[in-house]
Amino acid sequence: MTLDLDRLQLERCAFFLDVDGTLIDIAASPQEVVIPPDLVQLLHQLQNRTQGALALVSGRSVDDLRQLLPHLDVIIAGEHGAEIWRPGETPQNLGAAPIPHELTEALEKITHDFDGVVLERKPRGRAIHFRAIPTQEYAVRDAVALAVKPFAQRFEVVPGKMVAEVRTIGIDKGQAIAKLMQDPTFKGRLPVFAGDDVTDEAGFLIVRAHGGAVIRVGGAPRADLDRHFETPAELRGWLSRCVTERAPA
Ligand SMILES: [Mg+2]
Repeated sequence: MTLDLDRLQLERCAFFLDVDGTLIDIAASPQEVVIPPDLVQLLHQLQNRTQGALALVSGRSVDDLRQLLPHLDVIIAGEHGAEIWRPGETPQNLGAAPIPHELTEALEKITHDFDGVVLERKPRGRAIHFRAIPTQEYAVRDAVALAVKPFAQRFEVVPGKMVAEVRTIGIDKGQAIAKLMQDPTFKGRLPVFAGDDVTDEAGFLIVRAHGGAVIRVGGAPRADLDRHFETPAELRGWLSRCVTERAPA
């Protein structure tokens, strides 16, 4: 059964929002994204209306997101849930293992074999971006799988949109959301999670387990979604109506 998202009481909800492809449009590279001018204000309004029960749940590292949104003061679950940052604190590692040097070297080699592949060294993982050479997608994915194979006891490859993420086994957005839902700020609230990609599915599962609502941006509409938006702008428009039209009586 799906929830009526237009009757949500924000005071009883907790929002978990993916960033790239969900709140903002995906760009040719992660550095080239454009931040809508009213995004930070919108998120702070949502944070106020939920008494702080708002977290960004992104594949980007906490450091990366804080540089991207320097004036934003909300909780961040970074690197697909490998770390959680609360404003004023240092990021907390949720179980990510250090990436072995040999693994990074093997991934580095792929950037030499394929022109246009970029290796991103995140604090707790690695991302291999191949948006520049979409026709080579499967060859690059195969090469990444091969490079990670010797380290398969601790690390896994997670597919994303034109990216292959290498991360510690057991880390996903779902476990970060589950962890945050134990926080007094979030506990007992109805979780609402918006995402756009394969890596968000683990979050969808946890949110459903908590009786919450699942929103997907882009892709095809699905029966298991509570709401589907075509674009990040549509999601922002809906959030904006949530915070302005449903002010407390
Ligand atoms: Mg995304």
